[in-house]
Amino acid sequence: MRPFSYVRAEDAITASQSIGAGSAFLAGGTTLLDLMKLDVMRPETLVDINSLRGSAPAVALTQGGLRLSAFASMAETAADPNIEHDYPIIAQSLALAASPQLRNMATLGGNVLQRTRCNYFRNPSWRACNKREPGSGCAALDGVNRKHAVLGVSPHCIASYAGDFAQALIALDAAVETIGPAGPRVIKFEALHRTPGDTPQTETNLGQGELITAFIVPRAPWTRRSLYLKIRDRESYEFALASAAVALDIEGDAVKQARIALGGIATRPWRAHAAEQALAGKPLNEDIANHASQLALAHASARQGNAFKVELARRTLRRALLQAASMKV
Ligand SMILES: Cc1cc2nc3c(=O)[nH]c(=O)nc-3n(C[C@H](O)[C@H](O)[C@H](O)COP(=O)(O)OP(=O)(O)OC[C@H]3O[C@@H](n4cnc5c(N)ncnc54)[C@H](O)[C@@H]3O)c2cc1C
Ligand code: SF4
Repeated sequence: MRPFSYVRAEDAITASQSIGAGSAFLAGGTTLLDLMKLDVMRPETLVDINSLRGSAPAVALTQGGLRLSAFASMAETAADPNIEHDYPIIAQSLALAASPQLRNMATLGGNVLQRTRCNYFRNPSWRACNKREPGSGCAALDGVNRKHAVLGVSPHCIASYAGDFAQALIALDAAVETIGPAGPRVIKFEALHRTPGDTPQTETNLGQGELITAFIVPRAPWTRRSLYLKIRDRESYEFALASAAVALDIEGDAVKQARIALGGIATRPWRAHAAEQALAGKPLNEDIANHASQLALAHASARQGNAFKVELARRTLRRALLQAASMKV
């Protein structure tokens, strides 16, 4: 690992002000330190934000919904009884991620900003990686791409976004509270991440020094009937090959409104708007679930190694929808 300087932030404002170009916030460090040891990320200064962990409750119930502290651990948020009962999609997306040790250490803010697991990105002995070295090419296009994305891809990068929690946030219309050198702001979670286009090295719309402080999840009639289904190579301690975050408001036999996101298969957290619209006003049976799943993957673009993911994602979504429809709430 290269040498770096270390600064401990006392509060969110000083944290965002002490960070300059070449610096990075250090939360749980479970992504950042790995990538520093691999020589993929090379910050000259780390601004440690762990002292902010107690600055706000991990989970606050507000009139409008939930406020989740970005500095809280994944484990404490997943175990909150209100989350488990009223927002199961959030509890499951956190509890199915990583391992207990990592979930104790890792924060919500760090989780949504984790980098891709593309092996070519994580191993600098591969020269061609536009995300790590803009303009160098993409070794994954014709390389080993079994775990790569089929949605939101570009000729410059097909790396999949690896996180689970972000799929719950995007499905539930969450917002992100930040503080930066220009002051606080709130943005839609859907506007946080970017597709790679021709600048895969720029993954989010956060400004220099902008610190995520919280996630706001609005109260809505679909949050209780919600779930996160994650399909992976082994049943624990593994990233998603495909996942579906589903939240449904059902009245009588028909779906009033649906919220759907897909993970493991896209270059960023992925909202499936067309599939949601196909469900509105319809009874949720196998035919409709099939139709919605086809629409969700209609624009998929696969490579040789990951073509299987298109059908896997369709089946994952179909199963998640039928499972959510049969929940007793
Ligand atoms: C073996 C392994 C398996 C894993 N499996 C999964 C999995 O199945 N699903 C899953 O979702 N994740 C998985 N992860 C990823 C893990 O959940 C993340 O590493 C973790 O959530 C990152 O949080 P952290 O607090 O440690 O972030 P850090 O490593 O400290 O930070 C990550 C990035 O976010 C930035 N950052 C951190 N907090 C903030 C903030 N508040 N505002 C602005 N920037 C910030 C940092 O500067 C850094 O760039 C796995 C990780 C490992 C090592
Ligand atoms: S898919 Fe993206 S991260 Fe992976 S090698 Fe290509 S450019 Fe790099």
